[in-house]
Amino acid sequence: MPLNAFPKVRTRIAPSPTGNLHLGTVRTALYNVLFAKKHQGEFFFRLEDTDRQRSEEQFTQEILEGFKWLNISWDTPEVPLHAPETLVGLGEDGIVRQSLREAVHSSYIERLINEGKAYRCFATVEELDAMREAQKARKEIEKYDNRSRALSKDDSEKLLSEGKPYVVRLNLGADHVITWLDLIRGEVSINTKDLGGDPVIQKSTGQVLYNFAVVIDDYEMQISHILRGEDHISNTAKQIAIYEALNFPIPAFGHLPLIFTKDKQKLSKRKHGDIASVNTYKTQGYLAKALVNYLLGTSYNSAKYGEIFTITEGAEDFQITSVSKSPAIYDIQKLNWYNRDYISKLNYQEILTYVSRFSKFDLENNSLFNSSQIQLIVESIQESLDKFEQIDEHINYFFEDFKLDDSTLITIAEEGKEVIHEFISLIESGSLDFADQNSIKNGINSIGEKLNLKGKKLFFPIRVAISAKTSGPELGFIAVLLGKEKIVERLNSALLETSHRN
Ligand code: GLU
Repeated sequence: MPLNAFPKVRTRIAPSPTGNLHLGTVRTALYNVLFAKKHQGEFFFRLEDTDRQRSEEQFTQEILEGFKWLNISWDTPEVPLHAPETLVGLGEDGIVRQSLREAVHSSYIERLINEGKAYRCFATVEELDAMREAQKARKEIEKYDNRSRALSKDDSEKLLSEGKPYVVRLNLGADHVITWLDLIRGEVSINTKDLGGDPVIQKSTGQVLYNFAVVIDDYEMQISHILRGEDHISNTAKQIAIYEALNFPIPAFGHLPLIFTKDKQKLSKRKHGDIASVNTYKTQGYLAKALVNYLLGTSYNSAKYGEIFTITEGAEDFQITSVSKSPAIYDIQKLNWYNRDYISKLNYQEILTYVSRFSKFDLENNSLFNSSQIQLIVESIQESLDKFEQIDEHINYFFEDFKLDDSTLITIAEEGKEVIHEFISLIESGSLDFADQNSIKNGINSIGEKLNLKGKKLFFPIRVAISAKTSGPELGFIAVLLGKEKIVERLNSALLETSHRN
């Protein structure tokens, strides 16, 4: 369904491999996927790896692995209608690598120079510094004053033949307003006088700059809708000027709000470290689907499915106009909420695979417990896990003994010791059945009646003594799995440790 002058909806994500895979990049990719799916279009992947100094293969790998982990796939662009027979830079993996397209970009630069729409600027660094100083002294906004527009063709040719270094700039022409109907923000207008002067499109090294390369690539890939972060708004104005200079059809633009932290700072690796990187969530044991849903949910909820939806479900009733204009707020509690929800829906085989990967205990081939007991243990904590990395904090006491630390011991007050004493006597009297959770539970309740204690005062000392935790599955459940001997041993050692402390 063509939504504008383009025959088909085509979106793309165009990450630069200059850093770790950022949550914001994935979020942008997801909205592009939803939009393409919703309109039976295609979604492409372009690696913007032209910045040789800052691009690193390690980041490329991390980005690709991140997308794979998140199960975000892309389509392979077919030969575009208005490009040469082949789309230069397109790999077998469907990825368009921008660095392989430098000759294509340069040929378009040549074209603009020949048509008089771009020009070589031979101004030296010193000259430009002096220009800015003078502007500053006059209290004007510092910007390039388009001085080299006036250079005649002959003078330009002469300097060129003398081998003088130059950059190529786009001639923005007389000041005018560039307007577009942003898919998310509505009408946006930017006056070309606010763009810092005629923009450089090719550096003196011959490297074509982002704003130019992106237009050429989006054109040849026939991108119809460009959805990206709102940090690109002023770039969009420059890019529209380039589309116009080249007489290319102009795609639709939509600028997504960025992710901010609660204290209203843009989420960044530099300021916030690893929480900005997708890899962190993978290594901590978040489910890819939960992270995807969380990122989509930061600015969009499905009318049909509410907060919990897959990409395919989300696409069913996706409306780009419903994407929130306000900043997305990074909220780890909310992400944990999504993750708990997705973890709680895993079947046993699935959760076993995950927890085995994250646990130091050999859960799939255990010497202490058989497989159905392992299943009971794992299922008992399934709904308490925020992330798989926490698995051992929840199950360690089943597999290994512990020493209670001082802050825990202090919580077993005098009456707690009495509860533990009573529990030991009851177990030793032989009246509790360690194959039956209810028998244990009733036994503990009878201690409560005898000592006139209930709730926390009754259960807490026993729980701490047998698990070193203040919460967890039912005490009867733990006792049956650990068995009589282990329970008595732990109760005694808790008493001993408490007495050492006092
Ligand atoms: N490489 C650019 C970035 O990572 C792409 C921006 C765009 O989508 O045009 O920010």
